[in-house]
Amino acid sequence: MKVYNTLTKKIEEFVPHQEGIVNMYTCGPTVYNYAHIGNFRTYIFEDILEKTLHLLGYKVNRVMNITDVGHMTSDADTGEDKMLKGAKRENKTVYEIADFYTDAFFKDMDALRIKRPDTIEKASMHIDKYIEIVEKLLQDGYAYQAGGNVYFDICKIENYYELSGRSKEELMVAVREDVEEDLEKRNPYDFGLWFTISKFEDQIMKWDSPWGVGYPGWHIECSGIALTYLGEYLDIHCGAVDNIFPHHTNEIAQSEAFLGHKWCKYWMHGEFLNDKNGKMAKSSGEFLTVSYLQKRGYNPIVYRFFCLNSHYRKTLEFSFDALDQAKVTYEKLLHKIRSLKKEEKKDIQNDIKEKYLKEFSLALANDLNTSSALTVLYDTLKSDCFASTKLAIIEEMDQVLSLDLLKEDRQNIDASFQEYIEQKIKERNEAKKNKEYEKADKIRKELLDKNVILKDTREGTFYEIGR
Ligand code: AMP
Ligand code: ZN
Repeated sequence: MKVYNTLTKKIEEFVPHQEGIVNMYTCGPTVYNYAHIGNFRTYIFEDILEKTLHLLGYKVNRVMNITDVGHMTSDADTGEDKMLKGAKRENKTVYEIADFYTDAFFKDMDALRIKRPDTIEKASMHIDKYIEIVEKLLQDGYAYQAGGNVYFDICKIENYYELSGRSKEELMVAVREDVEEDLEKRNPYDFGLWFTISKFEDQIMKWDSPWGVGYPGWHIECSGIALTYLGEYLDIHCGAVDNIFPHHTNEIAQSEAFLGHKWCKYWMHGEFLNDKNGKMAKSSGEFLTVSYLQKRGYNPIVYRFFCLNSHYRKTLEFSFDALDQAKVTYEKLLHKIRSLKKEEKKDIQNDIKEKYLKEFSLALANDLNTSSALTVLYDTLKSDCFASTKLAIIEEMDQVLSLDLLKEDRQNIDASFQEYIEQKIKERNEAKKNKEYEKADKIRKELLDKNVILKDTREGTFYEIGR
């Protein structure tokens, strides 16, 4: 497999530390609000990566954190704690906020067919590990105490700027312009490893430590969890491009200083999902969630399909028009696949199956070229092999794509309900023909209230049972 490595800025052949095994760490959500569909673009890319590695025969150990403590509203250790901000906004405790949004996150992951990583760990459950790391960093001279907090001294790391590819001078200019300086630090880019109450008086989640009652910095949690569950050598670390600096840069600094050797070989970053105003972000107030898409009648899989049509390293602009286009294409795809099931069953042509699956894995092994992989799927459908062979190929492709390509819409509903829906669709078509649009809309709404989502395409009206 070939992947683009942010560390070397090159496409490289992927060779894991241990043959056949991939240790993969992916930064998880900060559970102070719903994740937006931009966040999910990144989780979809990571899901495809994990499933591709699996398809190529690797055993994948994947770990993800849940940030329930210590992430500031600014990445530069300033501003409010995000969790505390969420708790104040909703008049709940930070624990209630964390539980509620963690559950919402899992629900959305399931709706988007994102496999849950084998290990998902809350940041607040690994305080001892962070303390162990910080103690060693202090002992070895990589960290210092100032104003009650413990900071990492970035001057002790020679290649601190390697991942971001930015020069020290560029960053110094940036820091003067936008970051409120913490006067306790020796260098403005030194980052917090442990904060005490002296910095955030009203912090609720706090723990005893050798440096006083306080809580860990944001970056240390990912290093601590990764080192605990994946050991000293990491093969792949992922996130979106905003994680490159400072989060991943700081993870490298503290992990390698702690270990005394190189830590992670491949750093992979997904590009942003933007809307017409720029990067989709929670700080902008209004943001799009998976449940909002569902409320508007979209199957979340359509959003997954929309993402897979573009490369993870290209920015993707979201609009409802673009999503509608993806929806129509997806519906047509499903329609074609469903019609294959009606054809006569014949023996699977294994040589043809191998050929298409090989092309499919080659596309994915080329730095996750999902749109080429989808082209192989269309080529399969267009080919003249038996319908049974096509279905067998699609079944394997869908292990990675996870687009519910073979799902029978109607399999889980009883016959009388099915009849009722079909009757309503007929009535609606009739109403539309007679230009009784209000009546037609009323029928659509009536069905939607029963969780039945109608889709009009050139091939006719289809329906889907929502989740
Ligand atoms: P957060 O919950 O803010 O820590 O973000 C979760 C993940 O989503 C991180 O890996 C971010 O880098 C990523 N992310 C944030 N905004 C976007 C966006 N607009 N498009 C794609 N990924 C994003
Ligand atoms: Zn992280």
